[in-house]
Amino acid sequence: MIVGAGGHGLATAYYLAKLHGVKNIAVLEKGWLGGGNTGRNTTIVRSNYFLEPNAHFYEHSLKLWESLSQELNYNVMFSQRGVLNLAHSDGEMESFSIRGNAMRLNGIDCELLMRDQIQQMVPHLDCSEDTRYPIFGGLLQKRGGTARHDAVAWGYARAASALGVDIIQNCEVTGFQLKGNQVVGIETSRGVIQSKRVGIAVAGNSGRLAAMAGIRLPIESHVLQAMVTEPLKPIIHTVVTSGASHVYINQTDKGEVLFGGDLDLYNSYAQRGGLPRIEYVVQSVLTLFPCLSRVRLMRTWGGVMDMSMDGSPIITKLPIDGMYLNGGWCYGGFKATPGSGWCFAHTIANDEPHELNRRFSLERFAAGDLIDEKGGGAFPNAH
Ligand SMILES: Cc1cc2nc3c(=O)[nH]c(=O)nc-3n(C[C@H](O)[C@H](O)[C@H](O)COP(=O)(O)OP(=O)(O)OC[C@H]3O[C@@H](n4cnc5c(N)ncnc54)[C@H](O)[C@@H]3O)c2cc1C
Repeated sequence: MIVGAGGHGLATAYYLAKLHGVKNIAVLEKGWLGGGNTGRNTTIVRSNYFLEPNAHFYEHSLKLWESLSQELNYNVMFSQRGVLNLAHSDGEMESFSIRGNAMRLNGIDCELLMRDQIQQMVPHLDCSEDTRYPIFGGLLQKRGGTARHDAVAWGYARAASALGVDIIQNCEVTGFQLKGNQVVGIETSRGVIQSKRVGIAVAGNSGRLAAMAGIRLPIESHVLQAMVTEPLKPIIHTVVTSGASHVYINQTDKGEVLFGGDLDLYNSYAQRGGLPRIEYVVQSVLTLFPCLSRVRLMRTWGGVMDMSMDGSPIITKLPIDGMYLNGGWCYGGFKATPGSGWCFAHTIANDEPHELNRRFSLERFAAGDLIDEKGGGAFPNAH
């Protein structure tokens, strides 16, 4: 049983059936498939991480993205338009060059750009010296980009369903039945289902689900908002992010300019946020792209983020036999979708993590063996 029909739960079910030959799989979803963060995120895909465990995991995921439409026979509209992180000081340029070198040593593509190269690439970006956040240069990952979020959920769902996976919507998990230290069943709004293997992939609700089994997680839930303008002709051809001004921008295939920023900094399970964050994000967008000042904002929305304490994910066995957790994705779980499902399926099928997710354990928090990459995983610098 997999709890949660977001991209991660559906990808897990797909790889369990496809690669591990598991025959009797169901995915339980309290709402509709892809209605959580999968259908609410800003779709940025990249693998520009500094620390080894994250670099290898996200690069594996990016490689899966590169053939995902063929794999699922479903167009997920993966567009490698590049992801550009802006540097606003000499110090940031220095740290980008260190990160870039580490990426290259791990076989991941990246380029360090100077300001005039950035101005050429993104002509509408204000690269003058007297702005609030002057641009010194940037780190570009050309293989990064975007994908169509709900197509990813639908593609995995259709491919999993074709392999015999049952996807049960409007079915909320309300509790777990244990016998000693072994899970034996799931209580749902539609009755009890017996199962000795349960994978939880519920993003911002991870803490709630784990609590049903008596487990406390090092995860906090916060709202993250995003917004789009009215559609414009194509003017921004790559994803642009700025850690210093807490904002990132992309133009969608529909022409809307899409942007987002930092969390609403209070704990919440509501899929909506407040106006102060929207105002802050819009101000930051306009410092980078003053040319957008008269464009109308069309829509805003929010999702519930599962923030881990070191900014890195958790893909692991739980201390209860037969229970597994996939969570702690912070700002960046969409890009992880294929890699996360692939590793979680391996972990459930073998009752052992794969090398790629061995470090993404719960024990690391107790042991102090953190993978602290908030600058790449849990900070808007990157998304
Ligand atoms: C505004 C915003 C922007 C973002 N931008 C990016 C980005 O640009 N790039 C990126 O990589 N990531 C981004 N993210 C993060 C990304 O969306 C998530 O990390 C990722 O989608 C998590 O996928 P998931 O499948 O784990 O979760 P979800 O898609 O949230 O799926 C979990 C599912 O579990 C279900 N569920 C919860 N509780 C229960 C229960 N009790 N019983 C049954 N089902 C239950 C929910 O209804 C939901 O459908 C962003 C998130 C937001 C909100």
